[in-house]
Formats: sequence, C-alpha cells, structure tokens
Amino acid sequence: MKKWLALILLLLTGCATAPKNTVTQVSTIDALLAGAYDGQMTVGELLTHGDLGIGTFDALEGEMIMIDHHVYQARADGTVRLISGDTATPFASVVNFKADMTTCLKGALTEKTFQTSADKLALNQNLFLAVRLDGTFPSMKVRSVPKQAKPYPPLAEAVQHQAVFEYTNVTGTVLGFRCPAFVKGVNVPGWHLHFISKDRKTGGHILDFTTAGGILQLDTCNRFYMILPEQQKFSTLDLSQDRSKELEKVEK
Ligand SMILES: [Zn+2]
Repeated sequence: MKKWLALILLLLTGCATAPKNTVTQVSTIDALLAGAYDGQMTVGELLTHGDLGIGTFDALEGEMIMIDHHVYQARADGTVRLISGDTATPFASVVNFKADMTTCLKGALTEKTFQTSADKLALNQNLFLAVRLDGTFPSMKVRSVPKQAKPYPPLAEAVQHQAVFEYTNVTGTVLGFRCPAFVKGVNVPGWHLHFISKDRKTGGHILDFTTAGGILQLDTCNRFYMILPEQQKFSTLDLSQDRSKELEKVEK
C-alpha cells in the first residue's frame, strides 16, 4: 500500500520540474568532505529536480548515477541496483538534461583528450556543463565507497576503503558535470563523472577511462539551485577551511 502511495506521489510530483538549464544540488562538497553523510533528500524528490545526475547515498553507501529518470546505486561490492524513491541522498547534483549540442565522437580518446574535445565544444568555462557520453570504452576504471558507520569519518578517510574496479571493452554511459572554478567549496570545480554500463550491471565514480567514441551530448546550464541541509550536524560543521587538497585526494 505504502509503495503504491509513493508511486502515485512520484507520478504527481514527477511533473513538477526545475526551470530549464538549472543544475540543482543537495548540500555542499565541503560538507561531504567533513563527513556529513546523513541523507537530506529522498531520491523520489531528487527526481523532481532532474533526470540526469551524480551523487551518493545515505551513510555514503555507494555512488549515484541518475539516468533517464532512474537512479542507480553502484555499490562497493561491484554490483549496481535500482534505487527506490524513499532512499535519501546527502549530496547530489542533477539536471533536467536537454542537450544543446550533440556530436559523434570518433576515434580513441583518453579521459584527458575527451575533456579537451568537450571543452572545445563548450567554451564558456564559467557556466555549468552537464555531460552525457553514450559509447564504448576499451578501459573504464571506477570506484565505489562502502557504507560508513557513525561517528562518520571525513571523506578523505572513508575513501581509503574504496573498492576499485577496472573493466575492459564495456558499453555504457559516462555522465556528470564540468563545474566552473568558482564553485570551490560548494561543488567539484572542473570535471566530475560517473559511469554506468548499458546493461546497468556495473558502474561508479570514474577514476580513469579511454573511449573508442560514441554520442556526446552537452547541456550548458546558467542556473544553479542549492538545497542546504537543515539538520543540526550541518549547522555545527566548520565550513570555513579550504578543503581543496582533501578534495583532490578524494576525487582521484
Ligand atoms: Zn563521484
């Protein structure tokens, strides 16, 4: 009965969408770095703000991949599962993805040359860029983080227990964001990409990849909407420090 109610609510609220070209974000990256892993918004509500995005889950349990109105959890045991609407996220960035540029990427590219190619297409580094690449990947290196126990350790400590997976010749989707440099402390400046395979069986936070090409879609966004936690934990965090060094460690 509860499930039906959730489904009806999701169908009703699913129509309410954020204005176009809006990146919606839950919490801040520095709060996550400081160990604020308690879920703030349900996946059901997050889906009313977008249909493509990345993030994590309550207690830092795995990597989030939102794609085509579905949310998947890439877990530290290497499995991927479809997540129901009542699971919460402590940190996520999503967008109602509408490509304003679509191109066929050909030839072998590394992660770096892929980024350079996308940068050439989306020159304005001071806007948000949502990215989706459906293609084939000769190599794909991803990670996921296991569920954390309270008191939560800082993210730099938690990722020491990350599980790393390397796949060869996989088909799937690379998606995420290139954020402007000025989001420092709020989100990840530069590129932050996650992967999910076409069969939805593997995925995670990308550490490195090569691609043999695919369809690249880019959506430049000039609106940014933040939803900050109202919990006691957030109000007591020291968010005055510069955590860029920690972030660098955590991302790679
Ligand atoms: Zn990530």
